[in-house]
Amino acid sequence: MKELICELEENQALSKEKWERLIKNADQNVANFLFERAVVIRKKYYGNDIYIRGLIEFTNYCKNDCYYCGIRKANKNIERYRLTEQQIISCCEQGYDLGFRTFVLQGGEDGYFSDEKMCFLIQNIKKKFPDCAITLSIGEKTENAYQKYYNAGADRYLLRHETFDEAHYGMLHPALLSAKNRQKCLFELKNIGYQTGSGFMVGSPGQTPEHLAKDMLFLKKLNPHMVGIGPFIPHHDTRFKDEKAGTLFQTLFMLGLLRLMLPKTLLPATTALGTIAPEGRKLGVLAGANVVMPNLTPKDKRKQYSLYDHKRCMGDEAAEGLQLLKKEMREIGYQVIIDRGDSLVSNDN
Ligand code: SAM
Repeated sequence: MKELICELEENQALSKEKWERLIKNADQNVANFLFERAVVIRKKYYGNDIYIRGLIEFTNYCKNDCYYCGIRKANKNIERYRLTEQQIISCCEQGYDLGFRTFVLQGGEDGYFSDEKMCFLIQNIKKKFPDCAITLSIGEKTENAYQKYYNAGADRYLLRHETFDEAHYGMLHPALLSAKNRQKCLFELKNIGYQTGSGFMVGSPGQTPEHLAKDMLFLKKLNPHMVGIGPFIPHHDTRFKDEKAGTLFQTLFMLGLLRLMLPKTLLPATTALGTIAPEGRKLGVLAGANVVMPNLTPKDKRKQYSLYDHKRCMGDEAAEGLQLLKKEMREIGYQVIIDRGDSLVSNDN
């Protein structure tokens, strides 16, 4: 398996058959070798710097019904909330004072936030914080809407492709949603000029090494500026409540592989990773990740943005716990920096 890792490092690519073989046969020994190489490559481009993004979960209303997600429309057991524009701006102010220079506005697909309202919000944040980047993560929109947000000042967009394989996508989503449309959105975002992030859940119900191999081939083709991956974690109000969560091992292994395939991409050590293991985010960095996204959402709303059970949102996962996070990163030889942390990936594919 180590030869496959060397081949990946050298060519930044593998065939589908080789991806599958490597993913299927991953063990701790191979993983240690992979992480060593991933850290060398990450250091080559980003040194010991860890970028931070302030996550603002501004609405948990959603018109979609993704079967794995706790805030899906059909879940009548959660309390819904949406932040006002003033509350969102206050989150940014608090974040700015703490040292954040990127704000990630994430939410369910909430019709209340029309394109007009979103553009107004983006313009206002940009006016107040001209040195900051705005990242949107609000799902599938028309190309025209993406263009409007971009013109209003949005810099980046996160939209995980979730899983490339159409049949697997169909198992995780209602028929109204399709893998093809999600992928189309990603190419549109890149074309418009956004720094674009994609990604997938590791260990989602029904996922096989072949699905993961297809995810890697798709990401190679897309060449995104960022790749957000995290373990699938069951939510008690979904049909997948009794499924197993994705494992720490497999998530770290996929992070390492992504670092070798897309050396310059930004790779977050996600909240979901920090949720399945207390040391998850540190281990993520040691496997090749270089971004963390502490939570800037008002404290009383964080639990309501419940995509999965037992979500961590306090301590080092919280923006106000930044000192703790900095200390943890220092302990493993890294420094959290105040910088927009733009990706080194260019937009011409
Ligand atoms: N609505 C936007 C979208 O569709 O991209 C952004 C919000 S969505 C809730 C953000 C991400 O949460 C999804 O891309 C999905 O990968 C992740 N997610 C949802 N439910 C999850 C679960 N049960 N376990 C792990 N991740 C989950």
